[in-house]
Amino acid sequence: METRCRCGDTCIKPLSNALKDIELFYEPCSDCKTKEIKKFSPLAEQINLDEIDNHFGSCKCGKRHLDIVMSHVLKVMIDEGIKDKKANLRNACVPLVTPGYPTNSIPYLPKDSLVILSNEVDKKCAETIIKEVEEVRGVLKGDIRKTVGIKDSDSNPHVYELLAGCDLRCDIIQTLYGALGIYKYQHEIHIEFPQVKSPKIKILEKALKDHDKPTVLDCTCGPGTLGIACLKAGAQKVVFNDIWNPAIEITLINLEANGFPVKLSGSEEKLIASGDKFEVYSMDIRKLANSLDEKFDICIIDTFPDVDTKEFVEAADKLGKKIVVI
Ligand SMILES: [Zn+2]
Ligand SMILES: [Zn+2]
Repeated sequence: METRCRCGDTCIKPLSNALKDIELFYEPCSDCKTKEIKKFSPLAEQINLDEIDNHFGSCKCGKRHLDIVMSHVLKVMIDEGIKDKKANLRNACVPLVTPGYPTNSIPYLPKDSLVILSNEVDKKCAETIIKEVEEVRGVLKGDIRKTVGIKDSDSNPHVYELLAGCDLRCDIIQTLYGALGIYKYQHEIHIEFPQVKSPKIKILEKALKDHDKPTVLDCTCGPGTLGIACLKAGAQKVVFNDIWNPAIEITLINLEANGFPVKLSGSEEKLIASGDKFEVYSMDIRKLANSLDEKFDICIIDTFPDVDTKEFVEAADKLGKKIVVI
């Protein structure tokens, strides 16, 4: 399967490239400078806003301190009348770096490494941010407190709005079986902030410990993180499923990017794609139980926060010998 980003650009790279020198990705060079900016004080009282442009605080290595990049974004928002002159960095917008990788100190950002999320920004402002702040690759409008995606087939999906640029991000996720790079179109897949070790991966690793080459059903696969981790762990077979079409689209991209070539099925309706040791479906879990006539060693359920998993567990009971709710 060919993996091209929706924006038409070469945003999707094989994982080996994404992981190359990842520890150095956000590190400053010896010439990088920063300026201390107080998050709760008005930006305009600390920096001459007219002096912020692409060169303010930038370095010959091409990186800028995150706070300076965010100051630049806030300056555009003030110019566009989205924020008032007293605005501070604390309530400017949410920075989502890509690749998502936990750093010990505030990252220094190269070009195209930041997606921002704001509840206030409009299209014109978003386009100006993309044009003027070269570290920003995408601007989303939305509320960070609202989870993106779909709870079940009875509810409407909630998505953020992509106002400008491309919002594809890659989260780097460490597992016992090697690192994964998980791409997400951030307006339609829930946000996970980088952590040294994901709690979900820890639960999965514990469940996999008791099995040698298990068969696994990832009922609500999202971007495919847990199922791909199972493939890396040597699972005999993994079935990915999600009723959210954007989740399936990105799962296929992530399978390819992590070294698991995908073959689109084309003819059969229920089976979307397959490959060596995996299949991908897009069905309501309650119907999936009627379509698959095998019982899996492990059945993973990873639903929305605050969703009652009872119905999922009941359906999964028909499909798995061991149910793991994550
Ligand atoms: Zn793109
Ligand atoms: Zn530098």
